[in-house]
Amino acid sequence: MQDTIFGKITRGEIPTDFLYEDDLCVVISDLYPQAPTHVLIIPRQPIAMLSAAGEDDQALLGHLLLVAGKMAKQLGVEDAFRLVINNGEGGGQTVFHLHLHLLAGRDMKEGELAQGLAP
Ligand code: AMP
Repeated sequence: MQDTIFGKITRGEIPTDFLYEDDLCVVISDLYPQAPTHVLIIPRQPIAMLSAAGEDDQALLGHLLLVAGKMAKQLGVEDAFRLVINNGEGGGQTVFHLHLHLLAGRDMKEGELAQGLAP
């Protein structure tokens, strides 16, 4: 896959504040937040999109979900948040390095799930 801005961020080539990091992933604030809390959980391993993940990525994918839950607690939003993965251009993906959006702090009950990232 082609390198992306998230590849550069995870490798530390673009100085970025990590809200959390470990051997497998980093968490950063979204540059254009769509909710009062909007962070991105990004694996260091560059997988272009969820549908490109394979059996070998099972543990990594599970890890990303666990980190999302921990981040929600760390950010104090564990009772009301949404995780979004956009897959493919038609799915709204713009950066082709897998990442999870963690959104919180606004009403998540109204509207379609597909509009999870809409303001
Ligand atoms: P997606 O559309 O699902 O691929 O999400 C890409 C997200 O990355 C968008 O929400 C952008 O606002 C965000 N984004 C793009 N560049 C940066 C950056 N340099 N730092 C933080 N977030 C970014």
